Amino acid sequence: MKEGNFLDRVMEFEQQLEAMHEQFRELIGFVAKMTEENHSLQLENHHLRTRLDELTDKTQMMDEKRPPEKPQRVDIGEGVDNLARIYNEGYHVCNVHYGSSRKGEDCLFCLSFLSKQNA
Ligand SMILES: [Zn+2]
Repeated sequence: MKEGNFLDRVMEFEQQLEAMHEQFRELIGFVAKMTEENHSLQLENHHLRTRLDELTDKTQMMDEKRPPEKPQRVDIGEGVDNLARIYNEGYHVCNVHYGSSRKGEDCLFCLSFLSKQNA
């Protein structure tokens, strides 16, 4: 191998190394970009899942809790309130004298009945 030929080979090899180094830097840059993108997608996915769970919980609460609770509470509460109001307006709500006037007197049957309904 001649000296000039050898130097040419070394310079050629150095150029190849530089080219590979450049490709390697591009590859690293690509990996960094993909890692960053993956991270932000994971964050967004987590955020969306949390949001979805919240909405699912709210929907289930609306579906499951509303129909059974509201009618019962309203019916019982209004019924007792109506009976108490009728009693306060001067009429019996007990089954002994139901609907007739108390004539200004308290009725133990009515009071007992109302206190049982409120309990
Ligand atoms: Zn009564």
